[in-house]
Amino acid sequence: MKKIVLIDMDGVLVQLGDGPFSENKNKEGFFLNNKPLEGAVNAFKALSAKYECYIVSTPVWSNPHCWMEKRLWVEKHLGLEANKRLILTHNKNLVKGDFIIDDTKNYGVDKFEGKHIHFGTDAFLKWNNVLDFLLD
Ligand SMILES: [Mg+2]
Repeated sequence: MKKIVLIDMDGVLVQLGDGPFSENKNKEGFFLNNKPLEGAVNAFKALSAKYECYIVSTPVWSNPHCWMEKRLWVEKHLGLEANKRLILTHNKNLVKGDFIIDDTKNYGVDKFEGKHIHFGTDAFLKWNNVLDFLLD
């Protein structure tokens, strides 16, 4: 059976646009129009060949558009590979998995049952570091 890898969106798959997040987060279109982080799309495809990958993201509660836009972003940039693999939650620790790739410990990542691959830290600065670790 394939191992399960959970992947965060903002700051991991998604490059958040310029300007203060506290202002941007409530703008309609903000979450849809962000670009993928460098290497993220290829990394998602590569990981999907070896693992059961799910996208686990915490949407902004004050912006209901954020729910829809995350769904649309996934289809736009990750396509069929990501079909029906998006999980939106404020409690990531409730999702089962062997690994979670996340740039923070927030929203339950600190209580996640598997290994936290802390994206953006020295060991996992970029996607190629993560792939070296998970595809070896
Ligand atoms: Mg994040």
